[in-house]
Amino acid sequence: MDEMQALIDKIQTWNREYYTLDNPSVTDAEYDAAYDRLRKLEEETGTVLPGSPTGQVGGELLDHFERHTHVFPLFSLDKRQNKEGLQAWVERAERVVDGLRETETLPPLAFTTEYKFDGLTINLTYDNGELIQAATRGTGTVGEAILPQVRTILSIPKRIAYTGFMEVQAEALMKLSTLAHYNATHDEPLKNARNAAAGALRNLDTRITRARRLIAYCYAVQGEDLPFSSQTELFAFLESNGFPVFPYRKRVTDFSSLWEEIEKIRAARNTLDILTDGVVIKVDDLQTREHMGHTDKFPRGAVAYKFEAEIVETELEDVIWSVGRTGKVTPTAVLSPVDIGGVTVQRATLNNYEDIERKGLALGATVHLRRSNDVIPEILGTVEDGANTRPIEKLTHCPSCHSELVQDGVHQFCLNSLSCEPQLVARMTHFASKSAMDVAGLSEKTAALLLKEKDLHDVADLYTLHTEDLLALSGFKEKKAKNLFDAIQASKGRPLSQFLVALGIPGVGVRTARDLAAHYHTLDALKDAGEEALTEIPDIGTITAKEIRTFFTDEQIAESLQKLEALGVVPKAQEEAADRPLEGLTIVLTGSLQMKRRELEEALVKRGASVTGSVSKNTDFVIAGENAGSKLTRAQELGIPVFHEEKVPALLAGERLV
Ligand SMILES: [Zn+2]
Repeated sequence: MDEMQALIDKIQTWNREYYTLDNPSVTDAEYDAAYDRLRKLEEETGTVLPGSPTGQVGGELLDHFERHTHVFPLFSLDKRQNKEGLQAWVERAERVVDGLRETETLPPLAFTTEYKFDGLTINLTYDNGELIQAATRGTGTVGEAILPQVRTILSIPKRIAYTGFMEVQAEALMKLSTLAHYNATHDEPLKNARNAAAGALRNLDTRITRARRLIAYCYAVQGEDLPFSSQTELFAFLESNGFPVFPYRKRVTDFSSLWEEIEKIRAARNTLDILTDGVVIKVDDLQTREHMGHTDKFPRGAVAYKFEAEIVETELEDVIWSVGRTGKVTPTAVLSPVDIGGVTVQRATLNNYEDIERKGLALGATVHLRRSNDVIPEILGTVEDGANTRPIEKLTHCPSCHSELVQDGVHQFCLNSLSCEPQLVARMTHFASKSAMDVAGLSEKTAALLLKEKDLHDVADLYTLHTEDLLALSGFKEKKAKNLFDAIQASKGRPLSQFLVALGIPGVGVRTARDLAAHYHTLDALKDAGEEALTEIPDIGTITAKEIRTFFTDEQIAESLQKLEALGVVPKAQEEAADRPLEGLTIVLTGSLQMKRRELEEALVKRGASVTGSVSKNTDFVIAGENAGSKLTRAQELGIPVFHEEKVPALLAGERLV
């Protein structure tokens, strides 16, 4: 019993990290092992303790989202992992249906196959032709209401032709190409596309959701008197109402053609721009499926075939240590190049020294490597510890500046924030990043160059640079130097929220920075704020409040802030959010418009939108007047919403339209 309770506690913590915080601390393998052990104990003892995760379908609920009770419960599917298991499932389905034929008239048995996507399941409620609610799956009975978040998924229709009441299930996904782009342009990379999608939708800030540019595919509908009678017709119904449906699906009538489809999907899945981890097989006829009923957990008329995560063996050649912006020292494994899921892998994350110890790693050892839909693969453990392996030593000093390292929890830190080079470079790159001071052209490479060739140690020193200084940098020509100089100058008057992000206050990310700026309006007001006052702002806890206080009372930081101010870096006082209702939207105007183009542009910009001259995938929508030409065509190609100019008054009144 004690062991069971301990396992339950552990799994609940991990669930919270995984589903709620978007930041798992254990590998899937460790999670699975604990979960399987718990289920085994429950079977052996015949007892399921209260709160056991084996009885639930999904994750824990956040407090701050409204709960939504699904009108029709969402079932999860039973899983099969090999050919024999799937064949047995098909045979059982055939027997059940044969039995049903004694009393029912049913069509010949057929199955549909579709991809099983690896994202976040969402439930969309429509009534009278309108999207009126959207929710996560949650426990299957109760989820979280996330309508504003789901509205940012542009491919999900807000209005449809069908007017009956229904709930549509979809999988929300982040494209792998979008993830790659995100990770290339953000400080903190996202671990995988699944967590990215889940984290985006379960985020109270819809601007973050929007920025992740999710897509969705719909695959199920529940309701009364629906106008279709099979899965095949259901897909056609979804398509005719404008729902996004994945182009692949197949209908088969026997096991061998079913297996052929599974092999095809297995071969094709690594070529897709989205994560998939298997195939969903459903009995095509809905009446048959309904008659087949449920076991206590799963419907009998559908099953998921899951592909095994690919695991390969390779040699651990080396471990390299890097120092981040906060001084945290992190190990990375260097591997003999190996192909896994169509990608050549040479690196794997190792979170900290404890991780190395726990996995029993040594240099020269053969290790198991798994890429379970993650961007960076993980080492599961050592396969074989040959005679020639060498132990991995724990660091005592910073690999860069040789200061003595300090242990804090499971991590090690270099406290030399003044002259430890990688820390300075990372800090400067962060300072200049898009969500901070937005200095275009100040890449990591340029930051390193400034440090090396100009001996720049403080971000404030950036503002002392002249074009000639930049021109003297290796590889800098006139135009590049001027552009960077202009970008640095232009960053002097960024809004307070961006300035706060740039400062890199521990615990203060984009969202908290925005909350602080909206509350205090000016830097001086924030500097004077006491811990207690800070905690009155929603979502700021005592720890963050303390970090903020400590930050502003630090002498060295105060000096740096004074220096910034003396050099003309004065963050713009935050305007009330209500004055900038279109903040974050990128709009393109095209065709001949009633209102003068320039006046409309100014009015939109004043309300926070950016108006650009050409349509790209970053465009949120296009306003088209008469005789719109190539921009309109381009928008249609990219699937970007186009509104007629009759929407302009609403837009100017602050309605965001998408
Ligand atoms: Zn150091």
